[in-house]
Amino acid sequence: MQPVYNETHMELRETVREFVKRKIQPIASRIDTEDYFPEEIFKEMGRLGLLGITVPEEYGGSGMDYAAQALVEEELGYVSPPLALSYGAHSNLCLDSLYRNGSIQQREEYVPKLCSGEWIGSLALTEPSSGSDALAMKTEAVRDGDGFLLNGSKTLITNAPYSDLFFVYARTGKEYTPFVVLSGDKGFSRGSKFSKMGMRGSPTGELFFDSIHLTRDRIIGKENDGKNVILNGLNSERVILSFIFLGLARRALELSVSYASERKQGGQTIDRYELVQEKLAYMYSRYRASRFLCEDALAKLKGSSKDGLSAATGILYTAESAEYIAREAVQIHGGYGYLRDFEVERLLRDAILGQIGAGTTEIRKHIVARELSKSFLHSGKIPE
Ligand SMILES: Cc1cc2nc3c(=O)[nH]c(=O)nc-3n(C[C@H](O)[C@H](O)[C@H](O)COP(=O)(O)OP(=O)(O)OC[C@H]3O[C@@H](n4cnc5c(N)ncnc54)[C@H](O)[C@@H]3O)c2cc1C
Repeated sequence: MQPVYNETHMELRETVREFVKRKIQPIASRIDTEDYFPEEIFKEMGRLGLLGITVPEEYGGSGMDYAAQALVEEELGYVSPPLALSYGAHSNLCLDSLYRNGSIQQREEYVPKLCSGEWIGSLALTEPSSGSDALAMKTEAVRDGDGFLLNGSKTLITNAPYSDLFFVYARTGKEYTPFVVLSGDKGFSRGSKFSKMGMRGSPTGELFFDSIHLTRDRIIGKENDGKNVILNGLNSERVILSFIFLGLARRALELSVSYASERKQGGQTIDRYELVQEKLAYMYSRYRASRFLCEDALAKLKGSSKDGLSAATGILYTAESAEYIAREAVQIHGGYGYLRDFEVERLLRDAILGQIGAGTTEIRKHIVARELSKSFLHSGKIPE
C-alpha cells in the first residue's frame, strides 16, 4: 500500500492534536450532555486553516489534500465525534464539493466565507421519503424565466440549524442538479434541531423550500449533471467520514487498555484474565485492520480514479468495528461503563451513527458485492 502521509501531514497532526487537547477535550463531555454546538471553535478552526484544508490558498484555504482532511477528522473523532461529524459536513460534504464543482464566481463569492468559518455549510440530499434511495428525491427545481423555482424539503441534515449555505440536490425534470441555497433566500425555512441518541452537539435538522427563486448562477456545476456529483461526492464522503470512526475506535481502545491495567478484581488487574485479553486482542486487531482499509481508500481517493469499492469497504468495516470496539470498551468498564460520567458510554452512542450516515451498512454491503461481481464478470478476478 502506498504511504498516505508525508512530513507535512505529520506536522499537521501534531498541531491538530495540540489544538483538540487544549480546546476541545475540556468541553467534549459538555458538547454531549448539553447537546452544545461550539460555534466559536468552528471559527477558530477556520482561523487555523482547518475548514478549507483542501481548498487552494487563493480562495482562502490551506491548499492541502484529502489526507490532511482525513487526519483532522481522525483527531477530532478521537476527542469529540460530533464535532468531527459537523466538521466533515462543513469541510468535505459542502465546502470541498462546492469548490470542486462550483463556478469561478461561486468560488470567489462563497468559498472564502466557508473557509474562514464566517459561514457554516451543509450538504442536503436526504428527504423524508428518500434516504438510501436518494435518487427518489421529490425536491424539484422547475424552470422559471431565466432561473428556477425550488420546492421541497430535506431532513436529517448535519449543521442545518446553524448553516448559512446549503449544497442542495434537486430533481430537474428526469435528471438532478445541485444548487446553492442561502439561509437568507425568500421561501427558505428550517425546522428545530432534532434530539439524538448520540452525536449530540452536532446539530441535525430539516429544511423547507417554498418556491425559492434561484438564478442560474446558483447551479453548481452543469445543469442535469447532479447524478455524477452525488456519486463522486459520496465516495469522498465515505472515505473522509470513516476516519471519525477510526479516531473513536482508537480512543475507546486506549481507555479500555488503561482501565483493564488498573482495575483489580480477585486480587489482580483484570487485564490478567484471558477473557479480557481476548477482548483487547480482537479490539486491537479490528482497529488496525480498519486503519489499513481507511488509508487504502484514502490513497485511492487522492488519485484520479473514483474507487467506490475501496471507499465502501473502508467505511463498512471501520464503522462496524468502531461500534464493536466501543461496545467491548463498555463491557471492560463493567458497571461504570454504563454510567453517563464515563467516556466509553458516550463513544458507544456516537459509534452507532457510523452504520447509518454516509449510506447505511446495508447499502455499503450492496456496493461491495456489486463491485466484486462486476469485476469478476469483467476480468475473472476479484480486485486487489
Ligand atoms: C446524525 C445524522 C446526520 C446526517 N447528516 C446528513 C447530511 O448532512 N446530509 C444528508 O443528506 N443526509 C444526512 N443524514 C441522513 C443519512 O444519510 C440517512 O439517514 C441514511 O442515508 C439512511 O436513510 P434513511 O434514514 O431514510 O433510512 P432508509 O433508507 O429508510 O433505511 C431504513 C433501513 O432499511 C435499509 N435499507 C434501505 N434500502 C435498502 C436496500 N436497498 N437494501 C437493503 N437494505 C436497505 C437501510 O439500510 C436501513 O437499515 C444524516 C443522518 C443522521 C442520523
